[in-house]
Amino acid sequence: MDYDVIVIGAGHAGIEAGLACSRLGVKTLILTLDINSIGRMSCNPAIGGVGKGQLVKEIDALGGQMGRAADACAIQFRILNSSKGAAVQSSRAQIDMRKYSRYMRKLLARQKNLVIKEAEVKELIVEDGKVSGVLTDKGDIRSKCVVICPGTFLDGLIHVGLEHFSAGRINEKAAVSLADNLKKLGFNTLRFKTGTCARLDKNTIDFSGLIKQEGDSIPKPFSFSSRAVKQKQSPCYITYTNKKTHEIIRANLDRSPLYAGIIKATGVRYCPSIEDKIVKFADKERHQVFLEPEGLGVPEVYPNGISTSLPEDVQLDILHSIEGLEKSKVIRFGYGIEHIVVEPTQLYPTLETKLIKNLYLAGQINGTTGYEEAAAQGLIAGINAALRIKNKEAFILDRSSSYIGVLIDDLTTKGTEEPYRMFTSRVEYRLIIREDNADLRLSKTGFDLGLLSLKDYGRTRKKEEGIKKGIAFLRKTRVNPGKEVNDKLIRLNSSPLKKPAALENLLKRPQVGIKDLKTMHKIKLDIPESAWQQIEIEVKYSGFIQRQLKDVERFKHLEKIRLPVDFDYSGLSGISREIKEKLVKFKPLNLGQASRISGITPAAVSLLMVYLRKANG
Ligand SMILES: Cc1cc2nc3c(=O)[nH]c(=O)nc-3n(C[C@H](O)[C@H](O)[C@H](O)COP(=O)(O)OP(=O)(O)OC[C@H]3O[C@@H](n4cnc5c(N)ncnc54)[C@H](O)[C@@H]3O)c2cc1C
Repeated sequence: MDYDVIVIGAGHAGIEAGLACSRLGVKTLILTLDINSIGRMSCNPAIGGVGKGQLVKEIDALGGQMGRAADACAIQFRILNSSKGAAVQSSRAQIDMRKYSRYMRKLLARQKNLVIKEAEVKELIVEDGKVSGVLTDKGDIRSKCVVICPGTFLDGLIHVGLEHFSAGRINEKAAVSLADNLKKLGFNTLRFKTGTCARLDKNTIDFSGLIKQEGDSIPKPFSFSSRAVKQKQSPCYITYTNKKTHEIIRANLDRSPLYAGIIKATGVRYCPSIEDKIVKFADKERHQVFLEPEGLGVPEVYPNGISTSLPEDVQLDILHSIEGLEKSKVIRFGYGIEHIVVEPTQLYPTLETKLIKNLYLAGQINGTTGYEEAAAQGLIAGINAALRIKNKEAFILDRSSSYIGVLIDDLTTKGTEEPYRMFTSRVEYRLIIREDNADLRLSKTGFDLGLLSLKDYGRTRKKEEGIKKGIAFLRKTRVNPGKEVNDKLIRLNSSPLKKPAALENLLKRPQVGIKDLKTMHKIKLDIPESAWQQIEIEVKYSGFIQRQLKDVERFKHLEKIRLPVDFDYSGLSGISREIKEKLVKFKPLNLGQASRISGITPAAVSLLMVYLRKANG
């Protein structure tokens, strides 16, 4: 046996999968179509965003790489929703995408237990229902597990206007044989579509009349291990489409592969092309366009918001109708791409396929869109492949633990009929699973798995102790209603004190923050700065948090009741044949997962529970 694990693909999923396996000590090979495209950002040069920042922080807390890489290569950081509650705040950073790719390539090259090779995987070698290697254009390679992370390359078809051609990304060949092989092996597949916009030459853009958007004045890194951001930061600019732009698009809809009926695949609902926006939001007079640099010292600018698969001459007309872009030159035109995805309900929450043992799928292949969603799945698939090699119990994150848990549960339990993007609204326990506490939630797991260093975990332990110490201090320390304190409270629009009050109670007031408390009372506590933010959130929202923790307890009750994969549902009375068939097909791992499968009724879940209780004595 040549390798323990082969990872197909060196995109965002493949990188995390390969790193997780090799860091867990198993002999790993990453195969990629192009060694120069490691960690390439196919679309916008940014990491994070609403719902996605949370994923990056969780990857980091578990010992993954995306957050650290982003910190090393980011050229603008912003906390989105910073005026809203902690539950929906998310980090986003503009990335120097070439630097990111170089960073990842170097890191993989240095990683112990990891080899990277350029080859096209054409087929999987499957023996007795188990994968045992891959067939490449350069020969067979054997392994005990395989993780497939081929992104948009599976039977990819690029559209520019009414012309189309086979490709995985622009100037990169598609993986046609592997797509055919997966279908032949019995996987149900769907066809999804995504798209990107033209890249412009910065030197031909007139920024003078445009709105400048700087990042946060104190950039906050993604990784809990990054101390500060050192590299130079760069602004973005905002411009808008207008009436003329919309007229050009309407006049050319018959040349759009989407509207001419050539593209039949399902596109990304939350990231529509500009032609889609004009048709679906016909009453909108303008759409925002963010001009985002692709890096420092490079000419490419990414006009975020106008992805399109219209022909090149129309793309030029569109661009030239927009303020600031009148004389812009195009470095690369935009395009749409259709590709195959595997229906993710054919996977266990470990991301192992139900059809073929030791075979894991991660990233865009599972119907998601986005670098962060891909990286999160890569990490989980990689961890599980390594655990399988080591004969250890599988690793599953549930919906109450993390955004990653929600992402994977949604995909494997409900499936997706359109490209799946993470949002805060998908997460039912988002008051307790937030970006800011990803380390508190997951670092221990990362450390126990062997992915997070003792130094990194030690930092989290210190933070935990600091939080406990800080809350205890605020609870027992009282302030008296003196003139100085009351003047400060009045200045904050908060009512003055009539009798002594605990600092904790003052902090519960919406107008009073930790910073204000520190001006009212000398707080000399040796606790890390990062703990104060948690103390503030925990004290202010303690009522909501306690309620949600009770909900989680109820949720966990069903999650803990395990269902064996080979459970015989046929003998159960009182459950319809349709429901039994679904349970056999989905192979839920526990009662909680069974209850979320569409069509499984609460009555069926109750019956199953009674049956399992009886069976287990
Ligand atoms: C045109 C375009 C527009 C996009 N727009 C958006 C967007 O607006 N928003 C968004 O969030 N996401 C967008 N995406 C998606 C985003 O790029 C992906 O979700 C993300 O890159 C997926 O990561 P991945 O690791 O699954 O695959 P990728 O990053 O695509 O990496 C795939 C890897 O697999 C390798 N590979 C494929 N087949 C084989 C094979 N047979 N043998 C060996 N190696 C193979 C490739 O060489 C590559 O290294 C877009 C993608 C494209 C192409």
